[in-house]
Amino acid sequence: MSVVRPMMNRDSQFFWDGTAAGELRIPKCNACGTLRFPPGPACQACDAYDRGYQVAAGTGTVYSYVVHRHPPVPGKELPIVIALVDLDEGVRMVGEVVGVDDLEIGDRLRVDYNRIDDDLTLPVWRLSNEEGR
Ligand SMILES: [Zn+2]
Repeated sequence: MSVVRPMMNRDSQFFWDGTAAGELRIPKCNACGTLRFPPGPACQACDAYDRGYQVAAGTGTVYSYVVHRHPPVPGKELPIVIALVDLDEGVRMVGEVVGVDDLEIGDRLRVDYNRIDDDLTLPVWRLSNEEGR
């Protein structure tokens, strides 16, 4: 299976260590507690370099999305649904939504993990079944 490998570096290693462990880790400033995504070297709120992370609940809401129907992508079945997800913790991230061929803004999502190999586990999103409860 061919996948687009995300860039891994010192700043993002904690995130990929997290997905491998089944955790969605949000970068967090240890100095002031601000959550921030994507990760960067210094806190945008207080300029501290004291970075930690918080494990997210793994639930969020579709802020916007695109459905890729063509052209074909090697190693992928179409359509590919990519969403901007507003995590319940208040940060926004991009992710692939699996098991659907369309979405609506406001749909509730739950994170899942797609283990590619020993070095890479990708977070993916599925429609949450909490709706209608
Ligand atoms: Zn800070």
